[in-house]
Amino acid sequence: RWEIDWLENRARITPDAQAVIDAETNTFWNYEQLNNRAISIAQWLKSQGVKKGDRIALLAPNHISYFDLIFASQKIGAIFVPLNWRLSINELNDILLDCSPVIIGIHVNLKDHFSPLCAHSSLIFSVGDEEFESFTSNAGDCNHHYDEDINMDDPLMMIYTGGTTGKPKGVVLSNQSILWNGMNTVLSWNLSSKDVTLTNIPMFHTGGLNALSIPLLLMGGTVVIADQYDPKKAIQYLKQFKCTIVLFIPTMYHMMIHTEEFSQSDFPNMKVFLSGGAPCPLEIYEAFWSKGLQFKEGYGLTEAGPNNFYIDPNKTHLKKGSVGKPMLLNTVKIMKNNLQEAAYDEVGELWIKGNHCFSHYWKNGEATSSTFYDGWLCTGDLAKKDSDGYFYIVGRKKDMIITGGENVYPLEVEHWLSSHPLIDEVSVIGLPDEKWGEIVTAFIVLKTTSLIELDELKEYCSYKLGKYKIPKKFIFMDSLPKTHVGKMDKRALKEIGIHPSH
Ligand code: ATP
Repeated sequence: RWEIDWLENRARITPDAQAVIDAETNTFWNYEQLNNRAISIAQWLKSQGVKKGDRIALLAPNHISYFDLIFASQKIGAIFVPLNWRLSINELNDILLDCSPVIIGIHVNLKDHFSPLCAHSSLIFSVGDEEFESFTSNAGDCNHHYDEDINMDDPLMMIYTGGTTGKPKGVVLSNQSILWNGMNTVLSWNLSSKDVTLTNIPMFHTGGLNALSIPLLLMGGTVVIADQYDPKKAIQYLKQFKCTIVLFIPTMYHMMIHTEEFSQSDFPNMKVFLSGGAPCPLEIYEAFWSKGLQFKEGYGLTEAGPNNFYIDPNKTHLKKGSVGKPMLLNTVKIMKNNLQEAAYDEVGELWIKGNHCFSHYWKNGEATSSTFYDGWLCTGDLAKKDSDGYFYIVGRKKDMIITGGENVYPLEVEHWLSSHPLIDEVSVIGLPDEKWGEIVTAFIVLKTTSLIELDELKEYCSYKLGKYKIPKKFIFMDSLPKTHVGKMDKRALKEIGIHPSH
């Protein structure tokens, strides 16, 4: 069991090291306490009849209970299912029907709102209240013994995808996937027990759990948890807890770089700021570079770890927009539609192989078999590689625009338009068109009180973009729609583009 229940060993090796801090309540847990909480909860879950393979769902803001339930599940072979509490009751109903949990934990602050969901299980428990805390404090007297036969291939987590391109899919991650992603991350990104991260992105999402939090706990580092994102507070926490590495999505950075506090801070402890989950506008890189801070873009997906690439932050200036090279314990390649590998600088689909990859989509054999080819995970993302071996994400396969027979990658157009001094945010999609098949359409939010002439915008595009890539249509908006995890909602933009009056 030692390779499965690694928290037990971590607690033996570094019992007193700080494992988790709740930034909002200033509560600290060391590794021994974290492990003891998991033991207590595992025993309580067993006393409630939870068995190997059962799903344990959690609806909670960022909170210690995520780690409690993951590590308790690890000990008894249950499957932890974090749920996105920003979804509607109807959307959550569908997810709960899909994963049929035997037990559901709901944070005390969310209980009233989500009471209609209680019908999905006869076992509902609260987290974040005194009763839950009392479950977590019994380990001392218990001689814990687990008789479940748990293997590395057995599922440990099921995380639903962001739903950017359709309905969220339940991604099943085994003990092996979680451990290998952790090892791959700490080895490739050179993390140590001295590293401290701030987890302010949602923990119901792979970014909040598996990108840095679980790898750092494996390594004996410290995870500071904060829930509601407020850029000023985030800056304060980064400084207060002497964080060394952080992962935010671009929208969060976008908010942060425009604060007074950002311009006044020099972040002496921060080794690197990481962006992931969606394409990162170059304006954000520049804001960090101009302060002499290290900034790099990661690429990941729930199905693959999520981490797959490493770039030395010193190289990001030389390789603008690159996510780097494949990490130590995985391999990637770029494939064309004819199943030939792409040449340098040629765009194709990114395929990934490694023990960190997921095993299957929950109850969706069709989606699973269309995602794997000969053991490779076909990501649905387009990428290219330069002759030095650096990879660049070009966009999602589904988002690629074909206009008059030419391929246009929205990211290239977005990157260029977002460098315009009057543009605050931009997103580019293809809209159906009788003549061209699709037309390149740019949705634009201007900086406050800015005005711009269409001809001027088109001229700006022509400095950098080939004629067929220049948007034929510009739609100006006050703000752009985002998904529940803060990514650009291109499906909503398509709706707006097709039915402007809605
Ligand atoms: P769904 O699969 O339900 O549509 P989703 O793809 O948003 O949702 P996630 O696993 O959360 O689900 O996100 C992974 C995707 O995010 C990747 O496949 C990729 O398209 C995008 N992404 C992640 N990092 C980057 C990046 N650095 N640059 C561009 N895109 C990125």
